Amino acid sequence: MSSTSLSAAELTVALKQRATELGFDLCGVADAARPEGFDWLRRWLDRGFAGEMSYIARREPAYEHPRDVLSSVRSVVMLAMNYRTEEPAAVTHAGRVSRYAWGTRDYHDVLRERLKQLADFLHEQHPGCRTRGVVDTAPLLERDFARQAGLGWFGKNTMLINKRIGSWFFLAGLLTDVELIADAPHNTSHCGTCTRCLEACPTDAFVEPCVLDARKCISYLTIELRDQPIPTELRPFMGDWIFGCDVCQDVCPWNSKAPISAEAAFEPRAKLNPADIDWLLQLDDARFETEFAGTPMHRTGRAALLRNALIALGNNGDERSLPTLSQALNDVEPLIRGAAAWALSQLGGPTAKALLQERLMVETDDCVRDEITSACSRIV
Ligand code: SF4
Ligand code: SF4
Repeated sequence: MSSTSLSAAELTVALKQRATELGFDLCGVADAARPEGFDWLRRWLDRGFAGEMSYIARREPAYEHPRDVLSSVRSVVMLAMNYRTEEPAAVTHAGRVSRYAWGTRDYHDVLRERLKQLADFLHEQHPGCRTRGVVDTAPLLERDFARQAGLGWFGKNTMLINKRIGSWFFLAGLLTDVELIADAPHNTSHCGTCTRCLEACPTDAFVEPCVLDARKCISYLTIELRDQPIPTELRPFMGDWIFGCDVCQDVCPWNSKAPISAEAAFEPRAKLNPADIDWLLQLDDARFETEFAGTPMHRTGRAALLRNALIALGNNGDERSLPTLSQALNDVEPLIRGAAAWALSQLGGPTAKALLQERLMVETDDCVRDEITSACSRIV
């Protein structure tokens, strides 16, 4: 490989400068070695905490070394991009969406474009070098490498936290066979005696500090658990979250003074900040595609997103939701009909019960029939 006249140290400084110009807020370098968190991942998977996210277990061996992502890798450049935007105005009868999904574009696309530009810089310096950008999709323990690259520490809420920008940031990695100078790992924790995140979690999803049982986490329930009903016992604790949950980051003192992002793509869409549930529940498949294609919320699909919205309506318990719930009880998707049945039981009253009994007469899906029967039994 022909190479730049810059030394490894000079190139590392120049690369970080380029990362800043491209809008990354943090940039550090880790050696391409077996990540310290690999054994931790194994134990976490063995305890069943990944739930239905079987893709993690399937790719487990590949997480053991970044060479599974880029065979000739020598350096792992870790980058963070702040997505914190202004707080939404408080609104009732609305569903909350996790902050990372408020923007107008899917963050994967935004970060991939910037990674490509950063890789171009390395290719200019080292023609013929190899690079591979990673945003979520490849088996790389991004959080682990980010700590190793000095970007922050693991908070008790499992998020990577940086003293200057808190934890509202996306992580991305650029793997390369170019030699760069590694940063010192972030070996200290700055959580101290604080336990705010552990106490604030609505579903009690932290088994212990830094260990999350994803099966109980609202982010998992609303985003990852797409094809099945949310466990009944957890629904009341979801409150008005319809896509993700930010509670354990909202309460973190390191986020109270986190800077506002300058990235236009992360500016909130008015309808999602917070989301108008009645509007959401009117979306058919075609309109769902029009509204959400190219955004992070497209990932759940219409059925799961509307299921989540119906649970939020049930938790809200407002009788004005009855017409919307009645319509959802007759939706083509069983997942939506089942959630509507549960929400009606939360509202209670003779009208809700009559609607459920009427639907039971024609319902053919066994799971929905079970939902309706238990919903009826809860209404006295
Ligand atoms: Fe708990 Fe919400 Fe944090 Fe999940 S995202 S651990 S539900 S506070
Ligand atoms: Fe650490 Fe407290 Fe933040 Fe939790 S809320 S991550 S314990 S500083």
